Amino acid sequence: MARYTDSVCKLCRNEGTKLFLKGSRCYTTKCAIERRRYGPGQHGQDRKKQSEYALQLREKQKVRHTYGVLESQFSAYFEQASRQKKVPTGLKLLQLLEARLDNLVHRSGIVPSRAQARQLIRHGHFTVNGKVVSIPSYQVRAGEVIAVCEKSKKLVKGILENSPAAAHPNWMDVSIENLTASLVNAPSREDLDQSIKEALIVEYYSR
Ligand code: SF4
Repeated sequence: MARYTDSVCKLCRNEGTKLFLKGSRCYTTKCAIERRRYGPGQHGQDRKKQSEYALQLREKQKVRHTYGVLESQFSAYFEQASRQKKVPTGLKLLQLLEARLDNLVHRSGIVPSRAQARQLIRHGHFTVNGKVVSIPSYQVRAGEVIAVCEKSKKLVKGILENSPAAAHPNWMDVSIENLTASLVNAPSREDLDQSIKEALIVEYYSR
């Protein structure tokens, strides 16, 4: 499967904002954005006024990289979001991304980054409702219980010792002691990152 293998800090520098892709390092002065708040490469410091299209593209890329999703997967999420009529497309897109298993494992505070959550899930360290799920994109439904496999608890506790659990959002129910988490309900717009301008993403795909 295709995956991004270059430095993830370059992605943050390209977007000019922290995407928190490296777990606890992102909160230290070692963060590349703290040291070089300009784009990577020879022309990284030549910031020109961006066209409307460039703004839409950058917003889409920012969200895509934040959740660690490939282009084709991201446009499939957009398709799915635009097919339903109950929730605004932009919000539904974010809710679909938030309901990914790798995102929820990270959001629960059990694992410091989505990339690490993804790797642990692929290696079969997590269950959903008692069954091992090794697909990071698995869509978790409200009420389903995510847990660490019995044999993997020592490994995950070791990760927690090095990087203590961050606060989890109020739309999740988490027990760090038991290493379990569940989605209570889909997050509302107010619960999500206010810096995301999902309308730009909708405009990008509506061209
Ligand atoms: Fe982005 Fe984290 Fe790297 Fe900082 S340390 S540039 S927030 S991935």
